[in-house]
Amino acid sequence: MSEVYEKVLPHIYDGKANRLYEVKDHPDLLIIERKDDVTAGNGAKHGTIQDKGFYNNKISNCLFQMLDNADINVATHFVQEISDRETLIQKVEPIKLEVVVRNIATGSICKRLPFADGEEFKNPVFEIYYKDDAWGDPLVNDVEAIELGVLHNVDEYEDIFVAACEINAVLKEFFQSIGIILVDFKIEFGRTAQGCLVVIDEISPDTCRLWDAETRKKLDKDRFRQDLGDEAGAYREVYRRVCEQK
Ligand code: UDP
Repeated sequence: MSEVYEKVLPHIYDGKANRLYEVKDHPDLLIIERKDDVTAGNGAKHGTIQDKGFYNNKISNCLFQMLDNADINVATHFVQEISDRETLIQKVEPIKLEVVVRNIATGSICKRLPFADGEEFKNPVFEIYYKDDAWGDPLVNDVEAIELGVLHNVDEYEDIFVAACEINAVLKEFFQSIGIILVDFKIEFGRTAQGCLVVIDEISPDTCRLWDAETRKKLDKDRFRQDLGDEAGAYREVYRRVCEQK
């Protein structure tokens, strides 16, 4: 018989899109619950997208399982989907960085540097941001991240860089096979007690820019950020393509 994993109430963390719970009798595990809430501009804009928690749970779990089965040097925190909106994950120490990989220039990089919106990069662009709402998640470099105590050393930075590039290659090829351009994405990492890097949080239309390959229609959170409408339809479309054709 399959084991029942019981949430310990109340939650230990209530974030913008996810809630985290400890698991009864399993100190090494957590349950992540995906919400329909959506925010943009560091919480300045707030709303909901109907069934987003369902779509993101399914999409993220499909993509994390794909990464876990891929020939790359990093695992994810995924353990088991336990309901439509809840997933059992490994408990690890989160690294306070948002790691961004870009294949096409858009969003903040076009405000910071003279790239044309929609311009394809010759090589993927890699950035790290210090994950701290009070500081507005600023861009940092490897030396600053180490000085801040977020990263242990240059080797850890290098491991994150290599893992992010490998993840980009796997996801870009997969999305291409389902008629979607992976424009850019943000991922987060944690480390196990043994010091191994693990991908945490989620990979979903909340954290990626995804454009339909034929029409270039935006199929991600930019629909909410830019008031484009049909947010739920876009998330549903990504869910259908990712989870039905995995
Ligand atoms: N992103 C994210 N969370 C953040 C900031 C960015 O998931 O707090 C994702 C975003 O969806 C996009 C990528 O990271 O896929 C790059 O975002 P960018 O730096 O262009 O920021 P934005 O234009 O959204 O301010």
